[in-house]
Amino acid sequence: MSHPTREQKTYDLLVVGGGINGAGIARDAAGRGLSVLLVEKDDLAAHTSQWSSKLIHGGLRYLEQYEFRLVGEALAEREVLLKVAPHLIKPLQFVLPHEPHLRPKLMLRAGLFLYDRLGGWSGQKQSLPKSFATSLAQSPDQHWGAGLKSQFVDGFVYSDAQVNDARLVVENAKDARARGADIRVGTQLVRAARIGDYWQATIRGTQSQGAHDPFENINARAIVNAAGPWVKSLLDNIDTPETKETVKHIKGSHIIVPRVHDRKHAYILQNRDGRIVFVIPYFERFSLIGTTDVPVTDFATPQISEEETDYLLALANSYLAKSLTRKDIVSSYAGVRPLYDDGDSNPSEITRDYTLKLDTHNKGAPLLNIYGGKITTYRKLAQHAIEKLLPFFPHATPSSWTHQPLQSGATAAALRALKGELRGRGLTQGYAHRLVNRYGMAADALANKDMGEVFDETFSEAEIGHLRDNEWANSAQSMLQRRTKTNLLATPQSLARIHVAISAALR
Ligand SMILES: Cc1cc2nc3c(=O)[nH]c(=O)nc-3n(C[C@H](O)[C@H](O)[C@H](O)COP(=O)(O)OP(=O)(O)OC[C@H]3O[C@@H](n4cnc5c(N)ncnc54)[C@H](O)[C@@H]3O)c2cc1C
Repeated sequence: MSHPTREQKTYDLLVVGGGINGAGIARDAAGRGLSVLLVEKDDLAAHTSQWSSKLIHGGLRYLEQYEFRLVGEALAEREVLLKVAPHLIKPLQFVLPHEPHLRPKLMLRAGLFLYDRLGGWSGQKQSLPKSFATSLAQSPDQHWGAGLKSQFVDGFVYSDAQVNDARLVVENAKDARARGADIRVGTQLVRAARIGDYWQATIRGTQSQGAHDPFENINARAIVNAAGPWVKSLLDNIDTPETKETVKHIKGSHIIVPRVHDRKHAYILQNRDGRIVFVIPYFERFSLIGTTDVPVTDFATPQISEEETDYLLALANSYLAKSLTRKDIVSSYAGVRPLYDDGDSNPSEITRDYTLKLDTHNKGAPLLNIYGGKITTYRKLAQHAIEKLLPFFPHATPSSWTHQPLQSGATAAALRALKGELRGRGLTQGYAHRLVNRYGMAADALANKDMGEVFDETFSEAEIGHLRDNEWANSAQSMLQRRTKTNLLATPQSLARIHVAISAALR
């Protein structure tokens, strides 16, 4: 058996993919004392992990598919994650307007009874309000039907949570880095070969320019394939026998429209065929409407189709008092779920649960392939992934630890206090609020600097340097779309000036 060459760096773990699963695994592993290299070919959260419905939820509808394990784990996780990243994850109440011909009241009551309790049955205390039946009639103190047609007279209210998905990825990666992980954005795994009990891998810096050799060889004791939609195609570059596992690529799309009502709650709307669509408050001014389930073969650059747009508008309009048209659409996006193929032909019913497949061909170095999953369960997925690899790493800390807040996280009270302090330093209420909700406790150090120009209480010149130097952001898109959503929040005039400032900073 040959051994790693001395000049090549050897890591315990090579994690391929900087979505939520790769970032979560890198954080968990680094915190247990493993040396970790994470490579992401594009940008952190460049793919599925920035295009979700942005919910930390059990998934009420998965109860109809008897996914009790998944829903129970997700509901317990909801509670843990509210403490891991309270600046990025906030409780959100959902209203389900009742339609007697779609799902009977008794069935909904039973489902919500279970939903309120499944998370707690794992021993995880639940803090969110329990579900209840309510009138949707509008009056000064009754607002659960805000924005709906008057024909919807009663419904149910239940609790879940909303997440800033792309920032959750970035902050897991930052936390992993703070614990020693080497995070390489714009770096692709090109090839890996198993040499006995270690891997020899070639990685390529896709953004390297000039004479610098973009290829680098490294060694790793284990590889985690967290390539999301690429989970199967990545195996073509990894020297290992073919697997029988397959992945189904299911596109889901959303539209963003001006806020459809001024209250804080979301709606879960039922389609006649059993599918559901969420209408979710999105930042202060918008509503996010989605999603769809469409099998696709092009998973690298998904786009919302005309049919999906029609479907989302039609379903929303069958409930909303004020009809939406294509002209109301401010923005839209599509993402691809890399679901483990469990043989179900109905895209809405393929399991959202995750499957971890350990491959140790001829007792060689381990390769762990990650199929499926949800943002909500990323921490548990990471924990299970590391547990599968623990036998190969006797020096790793065996106990799980990632229930601790992210380094930028804190208690809700500490975040509130920081907002007050930033106001004392001269920031407006709106910008202080935005900065803390974006960066958590890291906003403290950032706001100690001269913020430069602050655009529309939304984004400042100081953030450009911060994002470039601390968050691997190397383009306007990575700063304005993934890490801050400034592209949605700032005026066109401000955006033009922000682009000039970013170009200067990246030059
Ligand atoms: C429409 C939609 C709505 C959803 N809504 C929710 C929701 O509300 N709540 C929820 O909990 N979940 C939701 N999900 C599911 C959730 O978004 C996904 O499970 C999760 O984001 C998958 O993360 P990932 O890390 O596996 O994949 P990704 O985020 O796609 O990350 C994989 C990464 O691997 C990188 N990569 C690939 N090949 C290579 C290589 N050779 N070298 C280096 N890097 C490579 C890619 O560039 C990519 O960035 C939703 C999904 C979709 C599509």
